[in-house]
Amino acid sequence: EAKLKGRDGVILFNNELSVRVERKLEVERFLRFAIKKEEITLNYQPQVDKKGKVVGCEVLVRWHNEQLGSVGPDEFIPISEQTGFIIELGHYILEESFKTLSEWDKKGLKLEQFSINISMRQMFCNTFIDDMLLLCAKYLNDSLSSKLIFEITESSAAEDIPKLINTMNRAKACGIRFSMDDFGTGYSSLSYLRQIPIYELKIDKAFINELGNPKKDANMVKTILNIAKNLGLSVVAEGVETQMQEKFLIDEKCDILQGYYFSKPLSKDKFEEFYLKGKISSL
Ligand code: C2E
Ligand code: MG
Ligand code: MG
Ligand code: MG
Repeated sequence: EAKLKGRDGVILFNNELSVRVERKLEVERFLRFAIKKEEITLNYQPQVDKKGKVVGCEVLVRWHNEQLGSVGPDEFIPISEQTGFIIELGHYILEESFKTLSEWDKKGLKLEQFSINISMRQMFCNTFIDDMLLLCAKYLNDSLSSKLIFEITESSAAEDIPKLINTMNRAKACGIRFSMDDFGTGYSSLSYLRQIPIYELKIDKAFINELGNPKKDANMVKTILNIAKNLGLSVVAEGVETQMQEKFLIDEKCDILQGYYFSKPLSKDKFEEFYLKGKISSL
């Protein structure tokens, strides 16, 4: 009987594995044409200061395919990184983001920061900086490129630190700042944080989520805020969903808040509306 169970186990495992492999291949197959077929769009999630004023946004990529429906970035970004498609996709995301930033500036929509997620695979691509500079020259002036913040994640960052620092410094020379995304969840050490030229920390939503859970304590968030303060870094809390979390973070002097409590990621038009609404209500 045990043998039989074991056998079933193996069969089940093989089925699950093959389902996963097939899904991945399917995603890969449709992803290749997603840009040309205009299936990729961008959303913008507001970032607010302690007064609730919209001071920035994070660009979040979306993909809707006719056959597959909506596929989340948590699924297709890792696949794009594995296949190398992230280079083409990353270029497209940068170009579309720059167009938006420039359009908003012309419309009088002023932000202090405009954050774009950059995959480490992109950062380590030898043509990344030159490519990005061409796009800057095409769409942005110096004052606009200094609004840019590139979010990188610590989990994959530890590859070749000297090369990473070199790339970051070349971007910094054009006024671009860097943010450490999902801080606290990856592998980075504090010495690593000290080595690379970071401007901002983003506290991962897993830690924000624990605020308000009476069984957990808020020490992790307080500790991260202290580290940031001691290193002279700005802090964004991501995944703020309740008023209680907002209050705690403002009391603890967190600079910028982002999350569903303020707004979900929005289309370009909806973001413009949200920005105006915020301005009116703060008068
Ligand atoms: P991330 O950069 O840490 O982005 C934050 C994620 O949290 C986003 O998920 C956002 O929609 C979600 N979020 C924001 N506020 C809340 C909240 O209050 N509650 C909850 N539960 N979630 C919230 P999304 O859009 O699915 O993106 C997932 C990840 O995919 C991102 O994590 C980022 O690592 C990656 N990603 C998204 N867009 C891009 C992109 O343009 N380029 C690259 N390379 N990666 C991207
Ligand atoms: Mg991010
Ligand atoms: Mg994050
Ligand atoms: Mg994340």
